Amino acid sequence: MVPRAPLSKMAAGLFFICFLIYLVIITRLESGQFGTVSDPASFSSRMLMNHPTSGSGDGILLHDTISNSGVITAIDNMVNQIGTAGTELTETRVKDISNEIAKQIADYVVQKLGKTATNSNVCYGCWKHGNNTDLPVIYLVTPTYRRPEQIPDLTRLAQTLLNVPAVHWIVVEDSSSLSTVIASLLKRYGIPHTHLKAQMPEKYKKSKLKPRGVANRNAALDWVRSNCKSGVVYFADDDNTYDIRLFEEMRYTKKVSMWPVGLVTKVGLSSPVVNNKGVVIDFFDGWMANRKFPVDMAGFAVSVQLVLEKSDVYMPYVPGHEEDGFLKKLDITPTDIEPKADRCTQILVWHTQTKSNSPANRTTAAGKRYKGTNIDMLQEWIV
Ligand code: UDP
Ligand code: MN
Repeated sequence: MVPRAPLSKMAAGLFFICFLIYLVIITRLESGQFGTVSDPASFSSRMLMNHPTSGSGDGILLHDTISNSGVITAIDNMVNQIGTAGTELTETRVKDISNEIAKQIADYVVQKLGKTATNSNVCYGCWKHGNNTDLPVIYLVTPTYRRPEQIPDLTRLAQTLLNVPAVHWIVVEDSSSLSTVIASLLKRYGIPHTHLKAQMPEKYKKSKLKPRGVANRNAALDWVRSNCKSGVVYFADDDNTYDIRLFEEMRYTKKVSMWPVGLVTKVGLSSPVVNNKGVVIDFFDGWMANRKFPVDMAGFAVSVQLVLEKSDVYMPYVPGHEEDGFLKKLDITPTDIEPKADRCTQILVWHTQTKSNSPANRTTAAGKRYKGTNIDMLQEWIV
């Protein structure tokens, strides 16, 4: 086994290398080795990253250069390349170059040490969600609970929401404590979010048919009532499949909007029945069960305004009747229902239900054989 340098030594080493790079570049700048060029754009970090620009002949691979000739020579080569392309160098540009070289060196060092580099600062959605828009915000309520499929399901939903502007994701865990894995997932995707917890009351946990996700959704309703003034609330379970067009359908909901949901019950569909005047006249669902609103949780959205007006309305703890109970208490008439998805002719959400997996048998991976290996580290991912 090759002894590994402790992390602090690695960091100190990297810092020293970056400092060297900075010194070399500054020295060369001062001694006037950089000429000037007509096209400043032709000299860029692309060169340092070895993405050749058109016909400038900067073909030396920095990785190879470093590994073959040492860090200083690599920097010399780099400086020469830049020098021949020439440009007026600004301080910012020099810093950019130093950063690029440092990144490449860091990669090489990490590769040498046989470790994987992880970049904890990446935020995948910030480019989009950082932009303020005038769109009404969709408050997307997702109940979730610990099980083998939880992280894969939330990953898929997060990546769906990356494509949705003006969304605020309220993730409510049915748990006594907030999961750090979920917290870091939420941070990583940069989707505006609120991370809450609300446990199913003990008395329901024992029953065969459970009111799944009810405590979570009700906690989210409380949050919306305390924090929101306008927008729309949508109850988006973690295991469904959402077409991103759905969110633009619901965005301007006045009171309640509805649309079809695929893969619900044996008939494969739950939908309002819409006549040729575009009015909801009935409901189609494989399990009517005497419900006034036989719709799926994924098949409707309500305006924040209505949620605020009906300040005492929550979802009932009655399995199968959560949607109906909630909608009935909102006191809506059939004409209040806004049919969406092209008069309910399109399916933009599916009740996919991720196949449930048995909890993992950890005994195989727990043996001495895997001590100190990646298999040990992977255990925290396994439920
Ligand atoms: N859920 C929960 N606690 C539970 C069971 C379910 O928070 O004990 C969540 C689950 O993550 C999902 C929603 O409640 O977002 C509905 O549950 P599920 O998908 O299992 O119900 P189904 O779609 O089968 O009605
Ligand atoms: Mn589900």
